[in-house]
Amino acid sequence: MNIFKLFSVLFFTLTSGLTQILAVEVSPSNNPLERLIQGNNRYVTSTTVCHEDWSAKRSAVVESQKPFAIIVACSDSRVPPEIVFDQSLGNLFVVRVAGNVVDDFAIGSIEYAVKVLGADLILVLGHSNCGAVNAALSGMKFDNHIQDVLNAIQPAVNITKGDTGDLLEKTTKANVKLVTEKLKNSKAMLANLIDKGSLRVLGGYYNLTTGKVEILDKTQ
Ligand SMILES: [Zn+2]
Repeated sequence: MNIFKLFSVLFFTLTSGLTQILAVEVSPSNNPLERLIQGNNRYVTSTTVCHEDWSAKRSAVVESQKPFAIIVACSDSRVPPEIVFDQSLGNLFVVRVAGNVVDDFAIGSIEYAVKVLGADLILVLGHSNCGAVNAALSGMKFDNHIQDVLNAIQPAVNITKGDTGDLLEKTTKANVKLVTEKLKNSKAMLANLIDKGSLRVLGGYYNLTTGKVEILDKTQ
């Protein structure tokens, strides 16, 4: 084998191997959590794929929807789940309330997405520099419905009281955990499905600076 032929064989071997590696890395996952993580990675690296050709995407979901995940997020204008996870129309069922807390209406919406639409992953998503958590942490008082939101966050404030370090981040993560626990213990529907292993509830924390979503406990 002459040197040119040897180089050609090596080049082909290397490039075909590289193509296979790339194919494995970019192939979309069927696992809902992996799909969210892959989408968030695309968003962080500005390689998003889901926010173009809206006409075709609208047409594709006119008759039905089959979201693969439910996101319980804060209403904060800087944390839109469809953008943060690079997902298009029909992919995410989103419930948003300041402080990502849930009441009966929110749980009813989630139950609909699970029972009727078939979603089997719920991600409760807190975020850095959350104004609602910060207001609760600061003990601010309002004579209107804002106070209802702060009251719902108060149990997380009670948990981190006296802690040192970044109290806002700790309280936000404590609040996410409390909301995931509330959903896991929501009887009868959600709790039954979780017991059977056919529904997962996870917590996440979005970093406003980096755009990265940290999954707080993947083993749940
Ligand atoms: Zn917030």
